[in-house]
Amino acid sequence: MTPSTGPSAGAGVPGEGRPRCVFCEILAGRAPASFVLRDEECSAFLDLHPAAPGHLLVVPNVHAARLSDLSPGAAARALEVAAALLAAERALGLAAAAGLLLLHDGTAAHQHVPHVPVHVVPRHRGDSLRVIGTFATRAAGLSGRPGRREELDALAARIRTSIPAVRVEPGLRS
Ligand SMILES: [Zn+2]
Repeated sequence: MTPSTGPSAGAGVPGEGRPRCVFCEILAGRAPASFVLRDEECSAFLDLHPAAPGHLLVVPNVHAARLSDLSPGAAARALEVAAALLAAERALGLAAAAGLLLLHDGTAAHQHVPHVPVHVVPRHRGDSLRVIGTFATRAAGLSGRPGRREELDALAARIRTSIPAVRVEPGLRS
């Protein structure tokens, strides 16, 4: 990949004509991630610095820095997939009480990777301090210790087994 300082930081093909994007590196297989799902439009993998066990990121397969760079169909699909994954996590007991879907749109809103993700965070009653604290420390530029890859891979495998239990399009299964 050739780094670029050009203006093309918006939507496009992963890895083409812009500075390195870690999500594009993951989607291209050049950086590790624990995937739970890949389809034609979006992919989902576990966050390396989870706010809660099962914290997922749903990202479009095509680089898009901002929500407004996504086609309406891609944005709707990402939300549909996020909802399906949260339901899968509920079925596993990872999200016993609730779930948090979160999208940072722009650096002033603490979007740290210029490739718009939907965070899917399983929630439990009484976990607000931990979850909000995690996002607060991220906003301060601190991400804490990363999860262990083998544990993330094992959790991803568990989540993948639950996805067929919820309504998903045939192409969604990994
Ligand atoms: Zn990207």
